[in-house]
Amino acid sequence: MQNERSRQNENETVKPIGPAGSTGPAGPAGPAGTSGSTGGRKKVVLTGDRPTGALHVGHYVGSLKKRKNMLDSGEYDMFFLIADIQALTDNAENPERIRENILEVALDYLAVGLDPDRCAFVVQSQIPALFELPMYYSNLVTMARLERNPTVKAEIRQKNIDKSLPVGFATYPISQAADITAFGADYVPVGVDQLPMIEQTREIVSSFNRIYGRGGRDVLVLPEAVLPDSESQYRLVGTDGNAKMSKSLGNCIYLKDGPDAIRAKVMDMFTDPAHLRIDDPGDVESNPVFIYLDVFCTDELFAKAVAQVGPQRGAAPHASLGELKAHYRRGGVGDVYAKKLLNAVLQDVLAPIRERRQRYEANKGLVMEYLKNGTEHARACTNRVLDSVRRAIGVNYFTDEFFAQSYVRQDSPER
Ligand code: ATP
Ligand code: MG
Repeated sequence: MQNERSRQNENETVKPIGPAGSTGPAGPAGPAGTSGSTGGRKKVVLTGDRPTGALHVGHYVGSLKKRKNMLDSGEYDMFFLIADIQALTDNAENPERIRENILEVALDYLAVGLDPDRCAFVVQSQIPALFELPMYYSNLVTMARLERNPTVKAEIRQKNIDKSLPVGFATYPISQAADITAFGADYVPVGVDQLPMIEQTREIVSSFNRIYGRGGRDVLVLPEAVLPDSESQYRLVGTDGNAKMSKSLGNCIYLKDGPDAIRAKVMDMFTDPAHLRIDDPGDVESNPVFIYLDVFCTDELFAKAVAQVGPQRGAAPHASLGELKAHYRRGGVGDVYAKKLLNAVLQDVLAPIRERRQRYEANKGLVMEYLKNGTEHARACTNRVLDSVRRAIGVNYFTDEFFAQSYVRQDSPER
């Protein structure tokens, strides 16, 4: 990894890469002419997850799928951070929860096909640079700016911790800026809730480079967010209709859920509360069952689900999801029927993921080894960035020969 790269990147605004950027399945192209690799150096991708629980289908559509596509393209150096320190910011009294879930998250990475031979799984707490960098960055961020962060504000409300807000939680965007910059990440594949974090990171990078960059050379790399391929995947709603499926809200379908759990959760899902009778017209736009069908259904999976579930009593089979939606809108499709189709689709999508996970569950020693190796590799990479940061600020007193030479040792003065 190259640490000091010159780029004219100050004053750029955040342009998350998503559908509008039409970046194709493999993810982003870099600045003009730099797609994939720059001067022999691959573009770096960093993203991560809090080990507060196993991962769910929101993670899958919001970030994991994009990661897998980018990894399979072979164009990027990829690091996946299991953010245990960040998870502790609102779980300080429950460290056991974090400890238990480190392996759960790694198993989910493996389950969706992230290959540890081609990327690094990294445990945040084991990387010293990630503790030191936030100290430098925190001087470049005002309290007022931190308090304005909409994601943090929403999470404080959701967790009901406004009266007992831990300093660590309030400042976690700074720690996240350290995570991203320590790897020199160019791209960060995330769900839309993370955009304010990337914005904050970019501000820190711009300030840092302006203050400490030498002779126009930037020290830190300006990252860009990479959003999922369609807007419905930016922030997948919870099964309860809540705006976000989240481990902390208990409204999740987990990647590791078995067939019975998936079925039970789907059949219990929130739908359109005004759709009381089958013949009532129904809303599909804000109806989680149809949102999920939109996100997970391919034409092929839809046809398979219809063949499996059969047509709704008294109706001809729907030829496409569009036809089903139109029928639901005008009235005549029951919630139970739509849920049965969704269940069939999700069972198909999740079965291979769950089966791959189960194979690794039987060999947790191997998973630990992947974590250890990935973390060691990451430590070396991030130390190089840390060195360049120390050099730029000038807190490298004993390794800076020029500085050391200006203090020529004399014989000990007489005391
Ligand atoms: P917690 O409740 O502990 O914060 P979480 O479910 O929000 O957990 P994170 O570990 O905070 O999950 O998020 C990891 C990544 O997954 C982030 O990039 C985030 O944007 C993405 N993500 C999380 N939930 C969703 C969702 N419902 N839809 C789309 N992306 C999501
Ligand atoms: Mg979260």
